[in-house]
Amino acid sequence: MQPKKKNPSIERSFVLVKPDGVQRGLIGEVISRLESRGLKVIGLKMVRPSLEHVDSHYPQDEAWIERLGHKGFTVFEEYGIDPKEYMGTNDKKEAGKMVRKWLVDYLTEAPVVAMVIEGVHAIDMVRKIAGNTLPSKADIGTIRGDYSVDSPAAANLEGRAIKNIMHASETPQEAEHEIAHWFAQEEIFEYPLAHHAAMYSKL
Ligand code: UDP
Ligand code: MG
Repeated sequence: MQPKKKNPSIERSFVLVKPDGVQRGLIGEVISRLESRGLKVIGLKMVRPSLEHVDSHYPQDEAWIERLGHKGFTVFEEYGIDPKEYMGTNDKKEAGKMVRKWLVDYLTEAPVVAMVIEGVHAIDMVRKIAGNTLPSKADIGTIRGDYSVDSPAAANLEGRAIKNIMHASETPQEAEHEIAHWFAQEEIFEYPLAHHAAMYSKL
């Protein structure tokens, strides 16, 4: 008999409750929203990461950095704000580099809670629960939409990163890198969740 293949819908994602989430007492709320969707926590710890650790958590490539700059610029355009006046540049790559530096500083300000989350389409599901990167754009009902109100126009113009409670992997490649970056093999656990029998069994 062929060995049973692992269902490809079952993915692992990496989640961080960022310093603002930890300091505002939202660790439980983040975990609870993931658990109540049926996702499984298979790794969990509080960490005070070094600058180097956070620096190599986020991508370094030019395209990612430019995308980071672009996110803020869409809001500046919408609200008629000139980035050159406040950030000293109209260049998305240059702005992205500044944001990346603020982001690394932000994540090292206080402890964070790191998690590995497993479940059906876990990467997209966790992103949906987290909501839009920019809290001012995040839907009500998402974690970022319910608990934060920051905007690039508030944060980037003040020379700091947007505080948005949590991080969540965006792609399988990101998830693979991030899980290996934060967790040792023996810190990740396999166990059955009782309610999965009701959620997924054939009647
Ligand atoms: N960020 C910021 N200013 C911006 C865009 C992003 O401070 O104009 C921060 C924000 O904290 C965000 C992080 O950079 O969560 C990483 O950005 P990314 O585009 O990967 O968003 P995410 O995956 O966190 O939704
Ligand atoms: Mg991201």
